[in-house]
Amino acid sequence: MAFESLSDKLSAAFKRLKSKGKLTEDDVKAAMREVRLALLEADVNYKVAKEFTKKVSERAIGSEVMESLTPGQMVVKIVDEELTNLMGGGEARLNIPSSGPCVMLLCGLQGAGKTTHAAKLGRLLKKKGHRPLLVACDVYRPAAIKQLQIVGQQAGVPVFEEGQGDPIRISKDAVRRAKDYGNDFVLIDTAGRLQIDDKLMDELKNIKEAVHPNEILLVVDSMTGQEAVNVAKSFDEKLDITGVILTKLDGDTRGGAALSVKAVTGKPIKFAGVGEKLDDIEVFHPDRMASRILGMGDVLTLIEDAQTKLDEKQAEKAAKRMLQNKLDFNDLLAQFDQIKKMGPIRGVLEKIGMDTRKLSDSQLDDRIVDREKAIILSMTPQEREKPSLINPSHKRRIAAGSGTRVEDVNKLLRSMEQMQKLMKRVKGKKGRRRFMPPMN
Ligand code: GDP
Repeated sequence: MAFESLSDKLSAAFKRLKSKGKLTEDDVKAAMREVRLALLEADVNYKVAKEFTKKVSERAIGSEVMESLTPGQMVVKIVDEELTNLMGGGEARLNIPSSGPCVMLLCGLQGAGKTTHAAKLGRLLKKKGHRPLLVACDVYRPAAIKQLQIVGQQAGVPVFEEGQGDPIRISKDAVRRAKDYGNDFVLIDTAGRLQIDDKLMDELKNIKEAVHPNEILLVVDSMTGQEAVNVAKSFDEKLDITGVILTKLDGDTRGGAALSVKAVTGKPIKFAGVGEKLDDIEVFHPDRMASRILGMGDVLTLIEDAQTKLDEKQAEKAAKRMLQNKLDFNDLLAQFDQIKKMGPIRGVLEKIGMDTRKLSDSQLDDRIVDREKAIILSMTPQEREKPSLINPSHKRRIAAGSGTRVEDVNKLLRSMEQMQKLMKRVKGKKGRRRFMPPMN
């Protein structure tokens, strides 16, 4: 999990503070020393860490905190607010022009996630009703054009390419085409290098001059910590970027990049990449990220995920069938598909503030859903509709067909029985219709 070590250290520091009834200045100073160390170990920029703890101390040593009934909690609140400020305060908006397409230039080092995030952004915009166009300007590697075409197709977003031509001409042609065909977003995927070099920067500057992008988004890999911040600083000095896409936040990044980029460059993180799949992109919300770092979860993002990733009609249909007591394995199969869309179970639990390290690997194993699906898919259509038809020999057949054990089949059947019983009870109790069945 990202920020794990930082979260642990901060919570240890705050636990000591919260255990005290009244705080002295020395207590706050000692806690801030721990916070500063935790930030440095998380690879936060030295100056940023120092400035941060100074600010928190100044606010915390104010009389209203020290004399409050819960001074420890007040300090946590201040840290939460200052972490949010450190990452930019509010959500950074996109610069959308009043007319013509919004041109977005994606740049960054090789492997940072440019191509993947061009497609993720395209998909996100498309879901919001826009008509994005992806543009292949990484002309040096034929494989890069192909990669963009593949992810573009997966995202359902058209890709403009002119083979290994001149990237400046290609980007100009793409913007013209977008105007002609009514694409309201143009996402230009550019070449990356392993390191920053003049040739790359010159090319990006030339593209910038040619198409005047509304957004120059630097894609940086959060796993590279302070290096990501240095890269951001260099790109910003040369290109005057408008924001950052911070990728691979699903990994065990220590957090340094997320916490220092805005303070060092003055440019906000606009999006975060949180996985390899095309839906794994989030608008970056500093307040929610601060909550996650402080182990307070991020329920808002979870709700938004549910709104964008789940099929509302399907959910309504399932709820109706449950209330009519018609729940069968076909419904459960559809529910499993919905669950999968929310991403790895670990991420979902962490967003509700659960410490997943307390759970066993088997409890967090996403393959459990696959196994249950396999069992259902090995049933005949009649068995799925009427599980009571399933006798011991059927169970053996289903277990063999799904590569599971008869016990696993029994367990799933028992869960279904329990859900059906529960539904009967709910139906009997008028006025208590808002109900979710227990899942296995
Ligand atoms: P580019 O060279 O900058 O275009 O980078 P790519 O888009 O090809 O990405 C490099 C690798 O990083 C690929 O294997 C991607 O699947 C992976 N990747 C990109 N973004 C993320 C992310 O947010 N999380 C994870 N886990 N992997 C990512």
